[in-house]
Amino acid sequence: MGVRIEERLLEVRAGIAAACAAAGRATTEVKLVAVSKKHPPERIREAYAAGQRDFGENYAQELRDKARALSDLPEIRWHFIGRIQSNKARYIVPLAIRVHAVDSVSHAQALAKRAREAPVPCLVEVNLSLEATKAGATEAEALTLCEALHGIEGIDLKGLMTMPPYVHDPEVVAPLFARLAHLAAEGRRRGLPLHELSMGMTVDYPVAIRHGATWVRIGTAIFGPREG
Ligand SMILES: *Cc1c(COP(=O)(O)O)cnc(C)c1O
Repeated sequence: MGVRIEERLLEVRAGIAAACAAAGRATTEVKLVAVSKKHPPERIREAYAAGQRDFGENYAQELRDKARALSDLPEIRWHFIGRIQSNKARYIVPLAIRVHAVDSVSHAQALAKRAREAPVPCLVEVNLSLEATKAGATEAEALTLCEALHGIEGIDLKGLMTMPPYVHDPEVVAPLFARLAHLAAEGRRRGLPLHELSMGMTVDYPVAIRHGATWVRIGTAIFGPREG
């Protein structure tokens, strides 16, 4: 048996509230995506029972399977936060209320092609640390990519997302969060609807909130360590 999810969720919500208070922001400005990848549906059910509604998954088939297993939970909302593979768009689009990590026009087109009633709400992933292993548009190309996505009919551009390198001291990545916020503001000046910032995970979410995060994506602090 693992952690008590209800208690962990309370702690995380208190942490978000404290970070908002410290930053002079309303708690309602920051929403929590509980990252449930590699955790079984029963744990998600526990979190749902404790009031959590937004869940994040990284793998398209895992998302599809869990959405099926949990289709009796009427208010559950899924976020796709992983790397996109164009041939998996059919699993993602009907389920996800946000696709957080779009980083190319071709991925956006694959998503848009599957859009039915409404355009697909997307965020553009920006790689600010320029780690070669990380996905994401570069800072220099991000707004050009946003402009291209904004022009695609089946896409509803919402904002920017980033995933900094793992560090022990979250203050080290604070400048990256500040740069993402700055980039979104620059995009808004150019007329792009970049109102959402998806940034902040277990180790660094208070810092991300200080710099304007509107979605924090938190896994370990809620569900405990993942296997594999
Ligand atoms: C796994 C993951 C998270 C959650 O990370 P934790 O450190 O467990 O909070 C957030 N965002 C993305 C994109 C992830 O892949």
